[in-house]
Amino acid sequence: MTEYIASYDKSKLGIYIHFPYCVHKCSYCDFYSLGMGKNPILPQKKLFESYKNEFLQRLKLEPNLKNFSVETFFIGGGTPSMAEEDLVFELVQFLKNELNFISNFEFTMEANPEDISKEKIEKLISIGVNRLNVGVQSFSKTFLKTLDRYYDEEKYLSLLETLSSSKMNRIGIDLIYGISEQSLEDFLDDLNLALKYRLNHISLYSLTVEKGTDYFRKVESNKAAPPNEELQTLILQKLPTLLKEKNFNHYEVSNYAKKNEYSIHNLKYWKFENYLSLGPSAHGFTLKGRYANTKSIEKYLKNEFSFEYESSLNNFTEFALSALRLFCKIDFNSFEEILGTNFYKVEELIKNWQVNKLCFYHNKIFQWNEEAIFDLDSRILEFSMLEP
Ligand code: SF4
Repeated sequence: MTEYIASYDKSKLGIYIHFPYCVHKCSYCDFYSLGMGKNPILPQKKLFESYKNEFLQRLKLEPNLKNFSVETFFIGGGTPSMAEEDLVFELVQFLKNELNFISNFEFTMEANPEDISKEKIEKLISIGVNRLNVGVQSFSKTFLKTLDRYYDEEKYLSLLETLSSSKMNRIGIDLIYGISEQSLEDFLDDLNLALKYRLNHISLYSLTVEKGTDYFRKVESNKAAPPNEELQTLILQKLPTLLKEKNFNHYEVSNYAKKNEYSIHNLKYWKFENYLSLGPSAHGFTLKGRYANTKSIEKYLKNEFSFEYESSLNNFTEFALSALRLFCKIDFNSFEEILGTNFYKVEELIKNWQVNKLCFYHNKIFQWNEEAIFDLDSRILEFSMLEP
């Protein structure tokens, strides 16, 4: 297979569903998610009915959604592995009746370790899930405690074996680094353990302090230590080489994948392509513009959705903010419509970066060099200043 080159295709659509429930609300998490405890009784039927109602209303506003090819269906959260599989299946069938899904669409579910078992994975495969992404964050009980994660020891111990011996096509995990008191060795223990198993995708996130979270309040009042930024920089330096040795390609700031195992859905966010999002707090991007749904589950269950669309930033700046996070090759030809009349200025800047060994550029194919990651925000700002 040839090397992946990110290009822009406006005929394709992704669908995102936000499932807002979790067992426990982690203190560092700024997603819209609600800790419900173990074995909660959730209004799942009602929630899935609301997804359908929201969809039908958006379709009325935007009938041209029917003209897109749906390439991806992604259910994230929250912890969507808590959702009843039958309801997820039914929702996909419902959407398939309304929209034009490609036959082998990518069907991703995010999951948490406590929900993973051989039987669970089999059920997910039976409803069509072909990509499973598990939020592991760490294998260390100590650091999971620091992160205030729910921890089921038995599930964590058998997790990688259960995942890699399953028939799930694509398996990815998320790990967090830079947790206070974590050492480089601690993080490498986590990473190396994961790399012994069959994985197609790894997302590696540095711990951040997000406003509005419990962790933010604790750090502000000196009740919790902030992330270890020195360690984060050190790890960031080591990751590309470490993962390259294991055949993982760095394709976005925090994401690594085996050849052609990139997340097609997540690439839509960075490639500036359209995605229809449903659910409380879900953010979508369609031809009508960007929208953010209500952040209240109570309102959502009463079918109170938000239909304000805004075209906000201009396309040029949005391109800079999203596509320039990619570390795989990018075909600038396909983005010509967005880069527009300003293309000669873009090329001037890129050539300057090239002289400074920050990127590769040939025949309008662009790629960052790994060193660019350390000052990426400034480079993106420089690019967006070229806005016509
Ligand atoms: S399990 Fe994930 S989504 Fe839920 S609170 Fe924790 S970090 Fe957030």
